Amino acid sequence: MKIGFIGLGIMGSAMAANLLRAGFDLTVWNRSTDSSNLLAGLGATVAASPRAVAERTDFVIAMMADPEAVKAVRSGSDGIIAGLSKGKGLIDMSTVSVEISMESARLAHETGALFLEAPVAGSRKPAEDASLTIMVAGDRPLYDSVLPLLGKMGKKILYLGATGNATRMKLANNLVMAGMLTALCEGMALASQSGLDTAQLLEVLDSGAVSNPMFRLKGPQIAANSEFPAAFPLKHMQKDLRLALRLAEDVGQPLFAASVVNELFKAALAENLGDLDFSAVSRVIRK
Ligand code: NAP
Repeated sequence: MKIGFIGLGIMGSAMAANLLRAGFDLTVWNRSTDSSNLLAGLGATVAASPRAVAERTDFVIAMMADPEAVKAVRSGSDGIIAGLSKGKGLIDMSTVSVEISMESARLAHETGALFLEAPVAGSRKPAEDASLTIMVAGDRPLYDSVLPLLGKMGKKILYLGATGNATRMKLANNLVMAGMLTALCEGMALASQSGLDTAQLLEVLDSGAVSNPMFRLKGPQIAANSEFPAAFPLKHMQKDLRLALRLAEDVGQPLFAASVVNELFKAALAENLGDLDFSAVSRVIRK
């Protein structure tokens, strides 16, 4: 099975490395060449374009930043679609909109190829440890063919039916995550401003009903307010909130808290915090 991997950012480079470790014949492409060179060092072949990746492989995985990035590698004479044909498959693991996924499915189908959207939950470390949660939707026969491949990148894999459902699920997941992180930042700011020890607040939270791995991981970082190296870049969380709010409009679901949380993340972007971890949103909240 020849696999292509396009988009070697924080997540893509770790996921692609796991596929190489699992023994897959991997061809990669990335906009900036540093990450492709790193993967070449691990045994990957570097192709000249997304189209070349699709031409020389059976299944192409894309792990792009956002809808614009997916469009950039998908279309045009050097794009993925130009290299697809019957018998091949495109698996988009980026978090994008339902519309982008539907369009990718249609464009892939026009070439005779199959399509899956497969966004993931879990950050840099789960990507490195191959313990991601992978939400999959689209062509079932392609899912059946690539399940062993997905199993080399994730530990929980759910098939959710028609294209669009995995994106919807992923956006609902990240909406919850952004709200929880905001609540943590505000609780810590309130505790600190009231003269309390935030380490003790984290201890209280961890021993009660809201105990969770994200609070354990991000809490000390927020308390230290020093570096926020990106595991999940803040700009991507704001993108997910924007897409979740758009989805909510489409289905007529009011989202009271998420709208405010989105404004908070927009304020963080305006303060140039976009490339830091999403927990850096605490800098907008704390006095
Ligand atoms: P990232 O580190 O920012 O990497 C983004 C990738 O997209 C890079 O390969 C980048 O290329 C490429 N890219 C961006 N704009 C492009 C364009 N116009 N044309 C071509 N390539 C372009 O992002 P990430 O953290 O790996 O996340 C990837 C996706 O997974 C996102 O949709 C994100 O929301 C989702 N996700 C992330 C996490 C996480 O914790 N990080 C967790 C779950 C899901 P360059 O290297 O050249 O910039």
